[in-house]
Amino acid sequence: MKEFKQFINGKFVKSTSSEMIKILNPCTEEVISHVPTGSVSDANEALDAAKNAQHAWKSLTAIERAGYLNKMADVIRENRVFLAETLASEQAKVMGLAQVEIDVTADYFDYYAGFARRIEGEIIQSDRSKEHIFLHKAPIGVAVGILPWNFPFFVMARKVAGSLITGNTCVINPSSVAPNTVMEFAELVEKINLPAGVLNYVCGKGSIVGNALSKSPITGIISLTGSVGAGQKVMEAASENITKVSLELGGKAPAIVCADANLELAVNAVVSSRIIFSGQVCNCAERLYVEESIHDQFLDMVTKKMKSIKVEDAFSENNPDMSSLVSKDQLDKVTEMVEYAKKEGAEVLVGGSRSPQFDKGYFYQPTLLTNIRQDMQIIQEEVFGPVLPVMKFSTLDEAIALANDCEFGLTSSIFSENFNKVMHAAEELEYGETYINREHFEAIQGFHAGWKKSGIGGADGKHGMEEYLQTKVIYAQYR
Ligand code: NAD
Repeated sequence: MKEFKQFINGKFVKSTSSEMIKILNPCTEEVISHVPTGSVSDANEALDAAKNAQHAWKSLTAIERAGYLNKMADVIRENRVFLAETLASEQAKVMGLAQVEIDVTADYFDYYAGFARRIEGEIIQSDRSKEHIFLHKAPIGVAVGILPWNFPFFVMARKVAGSLITGNTCVINPSSVAPNTVMEFAELVEKINLPAGVLNYVCGKGSIVGNALSKSPITGIISLTGSVGAGQKVMEAASENITKVSLELGGKAPAIVCADANLELAVNAVVSSRIIFSGQVCNCAERLYVEESIHDQFLDMVTKKMKSIKVEDAFSENNPDMSSLVSKDQLDKVTEMVEYAKKEGAEVLVGGSRSPQFDKGYFYQPTLLTNIRQDMQIIQEEVFGPVLPVMKFSTLDEAIALANDCEFGLTSSIFSENFNKVMHAAEELEYGETYINREHFEAIQGFHAGWKKSGIGGADGKHGMEEYLQTKVIYAQYR
């Protein structure tokens, strides 16, 4: 059984803590690997290595740094099936989706390598003659990336590609729930002759390793993807040294279906957005608002669709739609939230409990709930499971108000064939992303950023790359 080590300063080293965390296959509950619990001294050693490597790294040309990102993309493609299998086994992502995550991650490294010749400053007219004001973009220094378990490989690329292309060095702390694929990647990085210390991987608990990385004066930026609670802890730790934070946190995405929508398209988009990776996606449609004149018809369509969802082992060759939840904790959380919704008056139209056909694993049935009120926990809090609560609305402005009545602001969607309506909704929805007549899923050239409690800053595209830069103004007076 594989036992992972820390990857610090270009070498695999034992953690100074001998305690190990067991990693399970969620479908079978079998132990598949061990990773270190990690220690404060592991974190500090990695930060020292990153700091020592940074000057030489930023002194390379951006096109030279891009060469390493292209090599990362190449080693991912050469090992694409192995990496997808590793991902599927540690977090029960169905193989089809696991393969998409691996392949998109390779594309992400190549896409960010393409920024090498597009890291741009500005020249501003001065009030003085014979003077130029240069806005110069500089790396921040050492970037820390703290990962969630749900898209660990892709989110890792968001932190690594953005920080390295801009001349920062980087320390990654993978989630202790699903660290295997990320740590296998560290083994591939060892083979591409990246200068030692430029990229470091420290396994271990967020409360120990993540906290130490966030508190250190060496850290220039902490980019965390995770829950609001972890974001708050990171902000607290970052306040010690006024360290920049970039936080991508939870969501409670509303989907609004108007009477004039293409209902076939809407039902496919909403249900696929709800059940993809068993509902454990930050931008998944978490609640559905349907215009009253089509409510019953649309609910029948959603019911039929939810009942047709194939739930199987992540490796099943039947092309399943979804598999187990990632952990017992996640199963318990989803179960508790649905039970509480039932107590609050929700009626179960589909599912509503653990999947009865599995003896092992953390499988939960696709679940559709009706008789829902806006003040219920199931409408206000993130479920992160295959559970869809549905409510009616009578006017579009009422639907928008219900959608905005939430502390999160990550993604939202609207389904209507009326251009004026969709543009009005897109303008009024208080969300970092609004999808019109399509499923919730972002593009690497966009900008994935939550409003309200869903985060600060964002990832992807040019604006995601700029998170890792700071601006210096140079007043150049000449004679
Ligand atoms: P989590 O908050 O439990 O953990 C996220 C990471 O934070 C882990 O690596 C964890 O070890 C670390 N962490 C925990 N406490 C910490 C501390 N005190 N200091 C530093 N690091 C700490 O989240 P999760 O369960 O892994 O992921 C699910 C959550 O992530 C959901 O809320 C989901 O919506 C969110 N998410 C958001 C996005 C996005 O782009 N906005 C993407 C994926 C997941």
